[in-house]
Amino acid sequence: MNKIIVVCALLLSSAHLMAKDYVVKSPDGKLIVTISDNDKTIKYQAEYDGNKVLLPSALGFTSDIDDFTKNVTVANVSENAIDKKYSMTRIKASDIHYQANQVKLNVVSANKHNYILNFQVSDHDIAYRYELPQQNDGETKVVKIYSEASSFRLPDETRTFICPQINPMTGWKRSKPSYEEDYEADAEMNKKSRFGVGYTFPCLFRTPINNKANVWTLISETGVTSKYCGSRLSDFTPENGYTIAFPQEGENNGIGSSMPAFGLPGATPWRTITVGTSLKPIVETTIPFDVVDPLYEASQIYQPGRYTWSWLIWQDSSVNFETQKTFIDLASKYGYEYTLVDGLWDEQIGRDKMKELADYANSKNVKLLVWYNSNGMQNDAPQGPRDIMSNTIARKKEMKWLKSLGVAGLKVDFFGGDKQETMKLYEDILSDANDYGLQIIFHGCTLPRGWERMYPNYVASEAALASENVYFSERHAQLEGFEMTMHPFSRNAVGSFDWGGVIMNKYMSQDNKSRHKRYTSDIFEMATAITNQASVNCVALTPQSDSTVTDWQRDFLKEIPTAWDEVRYLDGYPTKYVVLARRSGDKWYIAGINGTSKPIKIQVNLDFMKLPKVDLYYNNKVKKMKTPKSLSLSIPAMDGFILK
Ligand code: CA
Repeated sequence: MNKIIVVCALLLSSAHLMAKDYVVKSPDGKLIVTISDNDKTIKYQAEYDGNKVLLPSALGFTSDIDDFTKNVTVANVSENAIDKKYSMTRIKASDIHYQANQVKLNVVSANKHNYILNFQVSDHDIAYRYELPQQNDGETKVVKIYSEASSFRLPDETRTFICPQINPMTGWKRSKPSYEEDYEADAEMNKKSRFGVGYTFPCLFRTPINNKANVWTLISETGVTSKYCGSRLSDFTPENGYTIAFPQEGENNGIGSSMPAFGLPGATPWRTITVGTSLKPIVETTIPFDVVDPLYEASQIYQPGRYTWSWLIWQDSSVNFETQKTFIDLASKYGYEYTLVDGLWDEQIGRDKMKELADYANSKNVKLLVWYNSNGMQNDAPQGPRDIMSNTIARKKEMKWLKSLGVAGLKVDFFGGDKQETMKLYEDILSDANDYGLQIIFHGCTLPRGWERMYPNYVASEAALASENVYFSERHAQLEGFEMTMHPFSRNAVGSFDWGGVIMNKYMSQDNKSRHKRYTSDIFEMATAITNQASVNCVALTPQSDSTVTDWQRDFLKEIPTAWDEVRYLDGYPTKYVVLARRSGDKWYIAGINGTSKPIKIQVNLDFMKLPKVDLYYNNKVKKMKTPKSLSLSIPAMDGFILK
């Protein structure tokens, strides 16, 4: 590894202590983090390939043990090279090799309290956290964290692609925040956030180097368990940039603390910063998974797959016995593994008939995913079943019953925000579900933070303005291209994404003629099955769209893979277009989509494709062709292509 260089910087005349710089370099030497303890405060800065990424930014936290934001010094330092290999079946890559240089600084306060500042720097990722050991007093067993000083000061010319946080107990049935707000592209940092309460993770930034080149930076967090809250970024200030902010008091119906607490020894979640001079490291990063480990063993092998979903286009009334059979038949026709039975099944199908429905599905080689309301007490979301997932006794009894029906998984909706109390609910649902062989999708929820690796039965989350909004309003149908070309660089870069469906309906209605139209092309929609990643992925077919798809479209929809071994970024720009390649086994799928109202020309290198011939889906047809060394084409507005 590159040696950590300790540089004597200056002599602090007041304290007669040596202030120092501690330098951690990535294995390839390009990403450099410098940590300093000048003026008895700890700061860090980062550069990539000679370009500034972060200006000197604050570190530390205040707590009931001590205020670690001032009057602290580094007492000693240890360094280590991390080399870790692990395998995954449920994210963007299968065999992952994480190599990083680590420095641990023992930071001591004037009162002789201490914490360990742990920085790990890999070629494109910085991860850091605060680790609290048992304190020297021998008495203190727990800590309450009042606030984190952790800040991110990006260079002034930086532009943002970030999503505002919203005020608690607002929106439909007081169910916010649920990470369902509008991103703004290429905004200035000093523009106030829409609701004045900062931004939800992940946060993407573009810092121009010159007219042609940029540094791209994605800031997020990972490793959040029941032992901490989910955090966000504050609004920007010129002095501190963006700072880690805790949940708002009003979240979770005002119940539970907005500050976190845990027993000693313990640690905060990892703050992660992914950096590159292209968007490649952003799309391909595995940092959310690299620095965490499984918290329990999978009780069984959880199958990836595709699911049909009546609710998106047919809405609440579709959750009845006969219609669900229709959507099971549709799943069976396409060889899909699952059908999702959405909310209100408890009233409209009834618990007794659920066994018959599950048996019918099993007879068709389809398994059910079943919807639950996470409430509880946190909001007014009315759909049933309620008051089950929020209670350990009721939840385990229910899961035992679901297992007896052969149900494969649950979708749990309408969570109360990001407080530690809510993180505990997520964790408890996941842990109990694993005991009963159930995999879990979350909606109306927070961002997953390393959960695919930490909880092996976790599948994906919504945590975005997802497909339901394309149904709800024409404005969002028009914005589908904007959304689908944002998430590969942000939301889906750090966690599996239940967007909620490849939509083949031409119109957002059951008759497929009325209400507003879909603004994307058919191939755009099909391509999103590749550009979006979730190990259990929705294909929102209906009997009407099934009757209008062509044979070549149907053949593709039948073969959509959901278990991926590798992803490669090829081209793109957030909210405008994306071209990426995913590998499943030895087969590559290249997909590109244009979310703008003008054609976009792309040229991508395909020298990694080994097949002599490929199918190109383009201009609403498919043709077989000799594999080109590089592919040049113009993607029409709101259209796409697939090459496989
Ligand atoms: Ca939602």
